[in-house]
Amino acid sequence: MFNNFYPLLITQERKPTSSSFLMRYFPFLILISKSLKYGMHEWALAQAVIKSTIALSDEKGIKSVGKIILLIGELQNIDMEIFDFALKELSKGTVLENTPITYKKEEAVLTCNRCGYTWPYDESFTKLSEEEKEAIHFIPETLHIYIHCPECGSVDFDVKKGRGIFIEDVD
Ligand SMILES: [Zn+2]
Repeated sequence: MFNNFYPLLITQERKPTSSSFLMRYFPFLILISKSLKYGMHEWALAQAVIKSTIALSDEKGIKSVGKIILLIGELQNIDMEIFDFALKELSKGTVLENTPITYKKEEAVLTCNRCGYTWPYDESFTKLSEEEKEAIHFIPETLHIYIHCPECGSVDFDVKKGRGIFIEDVD
């Protein structure tokens, strides 16, 4: 097994840049990402949403919840099918059972840490190649390799909006 790995490591030392490292190990990273995606993450998020929604409806004095609107960040790595299933399963036996859930996409916004420029993520994303788009889809962190500030070219930017899941409304 070590014999198989050894040549790979040597090659990696000769090409030290982060993007070539990433491209070399990309199939492995996808594998890791897919095994992580077994659903634990989605179930944990669904559990948090159910808990917060019940707390919110208690706070608002709502006895029977008519609808839930969730805002899903464009860059939130989530399998919507598993998430939706988890929400339905976890709401059984609670006040949220059979409550229709609407999902809305929250557009991502980036802000450059060097020059302060703020721009919509979509503006950069549409200019990427298919491979780059796919890389970001599987591993959202790779966004800092492929996307640069349109003003100053820096890769040091923050995601201001578009990550996370928010309860937009409950009634
Ligand atoms: Zn900038």
